[in-house]
Amino acid sequence: MISFYPGPSKVYEEIPRYVKDAHTLGILSMNHRSEAFMRLCEKTIRLLKKKIDIPKSYSVFFTCSSTECWEIIAQSLIQRESIHLFNGAFGKKWFDYTKRLRPEAQAFPFNREDVLMPRSYASGEVIAITQNETSNGTAVNCTIIKKIKELNPDNLIAVDATSSMGGIHLDFTSADVWFASVQKCFGLPAGLGILICSPRAMEKAAQLDEQNHYNSLTFLRKNMEQWQTPYTPNVLAIYLLMRTLQQVAPIEKINRKLIKRAQRWYKFFAPSKKIRALIKNQDVRSNSVITVEGQSQLLDSAKTKATKKGLLLGEGYGDLKKETFRIANFPALKKKEIQKLEAYLSKYR
Ligand SMILES: *Cc1c(COP(=O)(O)O)cnc(C)c1O
Repeated sequence: MISFYPGPSKVYEEIPRYVKDAHTLGILSMNHRSEAFMRLCEKTIRLLKKKIDIPKSYSVFFTCSSTECWEIIAQSLIQRESIHLFNGAFGKKWFDYTKRLRPEAQAFPFNREDVLMPRSYASGEVIAITQNETSNGTAVNCTIIKKIKELNPDNLIAVDATSSMGGIHLDFTSADVWFASVQKCFGLPAGLGILICSPRAMEKAAQLDEQNHYNSLTFLRKNMEQWQTPYTPNVLAIYLLMRTLQQVAPIEKINRKLIKRAQRWYKFFAPSKKIRALIKNQDVRSNSVITVEGQSQLLDSAKTKATKKGLLLGEGYGDLKKETFRIANFPALKKKEIQKLEAYLSKYR
């Protein structure tokens, strides 16, 4: 089965070999306070910074998931207020989780066909932006995020890049906090999150010095000074990340490949067709998640028959469950696999 699900998604073909190596090398029972783990952690973070172009001055932490990162930000970087700019289910979920911990969180929803307009906000310590909204296949350009940062110099900008990091070339200088989990563009099994913080974010964390949770940023930072984590981490996942990072091309190259493939998909699903791109505005279309809309019975039958042919399409998400399906455009997918899906979908256009 070839999975086009936008997470958990197809893993790199080399993964079984790397897992076998991990077993042979004793990684599966490695002590997370050992010298060997500290070296693995340091090496993985160094490679990650190099391969996806993270500024040297930024700090990188391992978490369990992106959902955990939502909570870490609410706990350790927001005292009272945050501003949430979103146009879909994941941004909304981030807002909902934050609101439970920080009731003064404010929502600023926008239409999914609209370009997010940079403006200044009167309050809010953190401005939360979902860079790639996996539920509907829209994306916010980093130049817009940068503008929002410039217009709100007193706020920290936090960005959910769960379904773009590792595939799209992100300008990390345009925001203070970034996070993702590895089961999307990184082409790995689920169970590891990556949290990236600018020096400004770390300053704010030090000021607040919040220590009420096992995953408080204060503890993450203290442990990471020794290339460690506050709890026993997913050592296998860190090892697999290290191995795949060694193998993948630099992000500029991956980014170019994904954009080319995305353009091909959007042309394939032109507006005149029976199944067509959900997002009409080219300026807000995601390059890593393609959402396709059509009459629900047609989509249903297309999905079922696809599964029989060994092609797993991503279900629509949330409100869009019935009238859409999603196609991951992630780096681990091979050209011939995409061609197979294209050939299959041709008859539905
Ligand atoms: C998948 C996804 C998440 C949730 O990731 P988990 O690893 O399940 O916590 C959050 N935000 C976005 C945009 C996503 O695509």
